[in-house]
Amino acid sequence: QTLGPRMVKSALFTYVRPDSQGEPELLAVSQRALQDIGLNEEEAETEEFKDFVSGKKILTWDASKPDEGIYPWAQCYGGYQFGQWAGQLGDGRAISLFESTNPATGTRYEIQLKGAGRTPYSRFADGRAVLRSSIREFVVSEYLNAIGIPSTRALALTLNSGSKIMRERVEPGAIVTRFAQSWIRFGTFDLQRIRGDRETLRTLADYTAEHVYGGWDKLPSKLPAGDAKDVHSQIQTGVTKDTTEAEGVEEENRYVRLYRAILRRNAETVAKWQAYGFMNGVLNTDNTSILGLSIDFGPFAFLDTFDPTYTPNHDDHMLRYSYRNQPTIIWWNLVRLGEALGELMGAGSKVDDSVFVDKGVTQDQADELVKRAEGVIDRCGDEYKAVFLAEYKRLMTVRLGLKKQKDSDFEVLMSELLDCLEAFELDFHHAFRRLSGIALEELETEEQRRDIAGRFFRADNTPRQESDSRERIGKWLEKWSARVKEDWGTGSDAEAERQSAMHAINPRFVPRSWILDEVIDRVEKKHQRDILPKIMKLALNPFQESWDVDADEEERFCGDVPKYKGMMQCSCSS
Ligand code: AMP
Ligand code: MG
Ligand code: MG
Repeated sequence: QTLGPRMVKSALFTYVRPDSQGEPELLAVSQRALQDIGLNEEEAETEEFKDFVSGKKILTWDASKPDEGIYPWAQCYGGYQFGQWAGQLGDGRAISLFESTNPATGTRYEIQLKGAGRTPYSRFADGRAVLRSSIREFVVSEYLNAIGIPSTRALALTLNSGSKIMRERVEPGAIVTRFAQSWIRFGTFDLQRIRGDRETLRTLADYTAEHVYGGWDKLPSKLPAGDAKDVHSQIQTGVTKDTTEAEGVEEENRYVRLYRAILRRNAETVAKWQAYGFMNGVLNTDNTSILGLSIDFGPFAFLDTFDPTYTPNHDDHMLRYSYRNQPTIIWWNLVRLGEALGELMGAGSKVDDSVFVDKGVTQDQADELVKRAEGVIDRCGDEYKAVFLAEYKRLMTVRLGLKKQKDSDFEVLMSELLDCLEAFELDFHHAFRRLSGIALEELETEEQRRDIAGRFFRADNTPRQESDSRERIGKWLEKWSARVKEDWGTGSDAEAERQSAMHAINPRFVPRSWILDEVIDRVEKKHQRDILPKIMKLALNPFQESWDVDADEEERFCGDVPKYKGMMQCSCSS
């Protein structure tokens, strides 16, 4: 049965029923996710758990037990895709089951199934997800969380061998049970703005502030004054200059405060992506989280060699979603969000209900409000840059094994290291991990430094400009070593402490595209199901030196990227 697109108006979700197919096979469960939700290992071993994560069993609302269960739903949103308005999209293959609060932490999650059948938002697609993209999402969600990058999470992965899905070929289907504190996207706001549905937009904004951000009183209050540099130092020192009415900053407007909270979360997350070489691959506004979570994993990838122009998305010919563009694109998305919130943000400190009732606003009044908001959004751009840079520099500082941040570190150490990696096509992740293990006493003479520089090369292949690269990296190591001594002092205790601090922030394991491809191949074609729990051990504990999984395999997964398997690209069909 083929249903066309259904336009859902004045609503942000539709109740739907998951439709699980065939006999589910539980392929993997994330132990970390279990803990975070508040379940124990025994609970995850029951039939009931399997039925629930595969969509076979649904907790529905029962009139005799009004506090238990609810009917599942799919969210409605739109989005700008590759810069163009794409109309209504919505959860075409994700169905939320219920919200659940971990009693120990008090954190509430919305739990959903991805790939459990059609919804009113499926348009002409089948509501299913293939095994390969489900494996990718399952592993990367949990990995990002493990390295401290905010992300939507994955609890379980089930295979539906009964379901055959048509893509370029027939493929097995799977379901990822995922969870997040919120699945609201920028596109959720975009859609209501495009439709001119002020009431729904405002309900959504209020809901986001009250329920997603935990209340209006939790939002930032003062908009920092000054230019980007000024704002930057205010954020770093935590001392915010008092903004004055004279500067025209409407700091009391609560929607400006909400916008700034969203902006800060996203600036921090994109800074973390940059610091760890992660690319989402499709940063459309429907794939940008209101909570600054990494979300919707399609053709994502981690850098292998350091090439800032790399995009993992095979169809991204303009390099819109390339590594170096991510901070700009998130800001582009934030400007769209600012436009959606424009009337609310432009209303100044007198956010009076009467202004916002649909019929109460003339077009002229609305235009006036949006115009006033434009100035605010502009100022917010400085705050975005400042928060981004502060977080990026903070992380790069610790990744380099430094305790303090000096202005010169950015130019002398960080930029020069990245320039070397780029010029000599060196591996981004290995550089940091291997640096962590270098002892300063190994770097005392020029001879030694040229020698140690070789640790950044592939085992089977030194760069063409070998002598140049040894010299340049050697010089860099000399500067680095001096800075480390400045921060940590000398002596074996200081060295041990510095090395273990670096090992705890620079992962040994990175789920690169070639590894995920191998896992997919082994699960799908070779029936080596046990590779999944093995890879999850590495993904959940990526800073360890070894995992007791299989020494040879560990070495291979953490070693050089096999020839011709670096910087792969992925198409969106999943
Ligand atoms: P994505 O590019 O994965 O973020 O998806 C963009 C939109 O297409 C979202 O609204 C998805 O829910 C929808 N979509 C993608 N694949 C499918 C599918 N197989 N069935 C239904 N909807 C889909
Ligand atoms: Mg999406
Ligand atoms: Mg998707």
